[in-house]
Amino acid sequence: MNYNELIKRLKTVSPEEYEYEARLLTESFTDKKISYILSHRDEDICSAELESALLRRESREPLQYILGKWEFYRQEYFVDENCLIPRSDTEILVERAIELLPMGASFIDLCTGSGCIAVSTLAERKDLCAVMVDKFPKTLDIAIKNAAHNGVLDRTVPMLFDVLSEEDRLCGRVFDAILSNPPYIRPEVIEGLSEEVKREPYAALYGGEDGLLFYDKIVKDYSKFLKDGGFILFEIGYDQAEDIKRISEGNGFCCEIFKDYGGCDRVAYLKKK
Ligand code: GLN
Repeated sequence: MNYNELIKRLKTVSPEEYEYEARLLTESFTDKKISYILSHRDEDICSAELESALLRRESREPLQYILGKWEFYRQEYFVDENCLIPRSDTEILVERAIELLPMGASFIDLCTGSGCIAVSTLAERKDLCAVMVDKFPKTLDIAIKNAAHNGVLDRTVPMLFDVLSEEDRLCGRVFDAILSNPPYIRPEVIEGLSEEVKREPYAALYGGEDGLLFYDKIVKDYSKFLKDGGFILFEIGYDQAEDIKRISEGNGFCCEIFKDYGGCDRVAYLKKK
């Protein structure tokens, strides 16, 4: 197989990003420099690793899982089928956290997944420390590995429990902020998502029948873990701003919405009234 053939095969799986994907795959799975390959497109680049990566991609596995790592904010993350792939949409939440958290603060990242929110925030703010919570051991292991890889493990406390039912495990702890990008998609919407997204953990996508299960739970039952003056930052779906405002108002919070760089509502900032 040469680069032109690789491009041709990728084009059927990824009509919009095949060039980009071809570059990343050749960089990861051949020992030749991409600049060399691009100027020698007819030269054989086949290796068992590249062929198997391509077969995985042709079965619609997300590119990020095949590469095994992905960039988020300014850090590199290990990713596999046990965690949601970190998305640039989430970076706005990290930016707000970096800007809003007081000096020396502690925060909790609920449904941490790859750990991207906690780890990137800690990496940029050396004065902070965090608890990272996930209910799946394999997922929490990825978050721990990512904290270590990015040099912040000594400022994290990983905890394995179910956010929806086991908050008592936090007994006695209080935080300056709760950060969370919980699962927030409705089941009928999940149905219509791309094959690639459907290969991400269902548990990381499914937010209950109305998509609001985690927001309801966290706003109601985790505010007791906030210090006075503490706040919550949620990632939300582009169409959930009104729902989040309603949940906030109903539980004594005021709520401000921030947009992402695509102009969609993306982050909710909740403060106790
Ligand atoms: N907090 C992780 C992320 O932002 C995982 C989110 C999730 O699993 N819903 O990518």
